Amino acid sequence: MKVLVPVKRVLDYNLKVRVRPDGSGVDLSNLKMSINPFDEIAIEEAVRMKEGGGGHKAGAATEVVAVSIGPDQAQETIRNALAIGADRGILVKADGEVEPLAVAKILKAVIDAEKPDLVILGKQAIDDDSNATGQMLAALLDWPQATFASKIVLHDNKATVTREVDGGLQTLNVDLPAIVTTDLRLNEPRYASLPNIMKAKKKPIDVKTATDFGVDTTPRLKATKTTEPPKRSGGIKVKTADELVGKLKEAGVI
Ligand code: AMP
Repeated sequence: MKVLVPVKRVLDYNLKVRVRPDGSGVDLSNLKMSINPFDEIAIEEAVRMKEGGGGHKAGAATEVVAVSIGPDQAQETIRNALAIGADRGILVKADGEVEPLAVAKILKAVIDAEKPDLVILGKQAIDDDSNATGQMLAALLDWPQATFASKIVLHDNKATVTREVDGGLQTLNVDLPAIVTTDLRLNEPRYASLPNIMKAKKKPIDVKTATDFGVDTTPRLKATKTTEPPKRSGGIKVKTADELVGKLKEAGVI
């Protein structure tokens, strides 16, 4: 079984974004970029399907392919995935922000060529928070989808996926090929070991461009304004429960 995992290069989750003073967006210059955390979880799950672990039989996956759409530097993101254990990478070069629909169209073209049995994406990219690419891709391919997975069990050409939904868990059976998107609790990704980081440098990365797939990546959305979150105003201390109730009433909370 071949598993394809799209991995996005995003601002490292430990860093705080800087909003440009004119509100025209965020300034990413000289900031550390990393693999999107949900995509790291997706790669970890695919590698466990290959190696065994996390409830998967070793050999359940035979090949794990990491795909990134982005600038040249997205090769580093693919190398991260290769260091975790993916076998090879595909970089589809595209400059500037590529919106989820264009990403989904490029991924569809890659999938038509690669014919994977399972595609595992992150549930969302932590930069745009769109939570859209997996769903759009499933629609373009006309494949079943199971989003927000906290557990995946593979059996007889099917996947049983436990989904984190409001107020509980939902379990779905999907026929393969299918699209699955990862939630935070699916697994805890490993730290890539130094020997695996070295090995990853020798694994192949195929480089293509969006135009090779005939996909127009011109943005269709226009952000009108970007602002910092409002500053929190200072708290106050109260001496009694009655005073607390009074303050909450004043603030219209109760
Ligand atoms: P989004 O819909 O933008 O929140 O992204 C959801 C998921 O789609 C991510 O976690 C990735 O798995 C995948 N994805 C989005 N953008 C890209 C990209 N430029 N390259 C590779 N994968 C992507």
